[in-house]
Amino acid sequence: MRFSFELFPPKTPQATAALEAALPRLAVLNPALFTVTYGAGGTTKDGTLATAATVAARTGVPVAAHLTYLTTPREALLAYAQDLWGRGVRHILALRGDLPPGRTFADFAGPQYFRSTAQFIAALRDVHDFEISVAAYPEVHPDAADAAEDIETLKAKVAAGAERAVTQFFFDNADYWALVDRARAAGVAVPIVPGLLPVHDFPAMARFAAKCRARVPADLEARLAAEGPAAVLAAQIRDLRAQGAAHAHIYTLNRADIVEQALAKI
Ligand code: FAD
Repeated sequence: MRFSFELFPPKTPQATAALEAALPRLAVLNPALFTVTYGAGGTTKDGTLATAATVAARTGVPVAAHLTYLTTPREALLAYAQDLWGRGVRHILALRGDLPPGRTFADFAGPQYFRSTAQFIAALRDVHDFEISVAAYPEVHPDAADAAEDIETLKAKVAAGAERAVTQFFFDNADYWALVDRARAAGVAVPIVPGLLPVHDFPAMARFAAKCRARVPADLEARLAAEGPAAVLAAQIRDLRAQGAAHAHIYTLNRADIVEQALAKI
């Protein structure tokens, strides 16, 4: 089984030091890919670029940069994509992104904005021959009218050139396999990589899960307390592997501890 590890661009000297400490420990686990997130509305634009370049240089592992289109005009996005290519980034995780607080989709409906992730992907592919990954949602994206609409969006992203989908985190593997079934039934054939979240802080995770509408199983808190977060993550990975998953994406939160303990147990 291969792994990709998600990192975020650090914003403080302390966070930078934490990433520097975690990076060699994560690199030694031989990931196929690191990905670097993009702050809401481009707030980490320069940090994403710098972190992606640093991670690639320090580890030699390929790096994908996340990039969201919703609140940024096309020209600025495509210029940024040129910068990414110039810095050696060949892989983009292309995303819509979320609305800033108090704003509506109508605020970003002008001709200077992309209207869908599929449109954004097509434009990125015109800039350079980027490898493109996209997001997918085992428990259905909160903005989708229903699961069928969510899959149609995924299908359009793949038709536009996405080669892989990475999922939102989930704790019940049945939700992941249900997404895979819906996607395959709709003719989506690309790999759908399960996204897994090590739980460092249960209350913080539960608040975040509520926002993304990811279900937290009733027994999860007790299992984390009894077995520890690494054993819980390892059990989830073992079950996915036993059912045929070949790759998993881990939301590392720039920490190596749970990830290395979990991978040692699988
Ligand atoms: P899409 O797949 O394009 O759309 C999501 C759903 O919204 C679809 O079902 C679509 O049909 C529906 N929809 C309903 N109305 C509209 C409308 N008016 N316009 C567009 N879509 C509509 N966020 C960040 O800010 N930075 C990151 O680095 C980041 N990384 C992520 C990585 C992964 C693996 C995942 C799963 C998510 C990540 N996100 C990130 C969060 C992501 O930006 C949000 O989940 C966002 O709300 C949806 O983005 P998307 O690309 O999945 O959207």
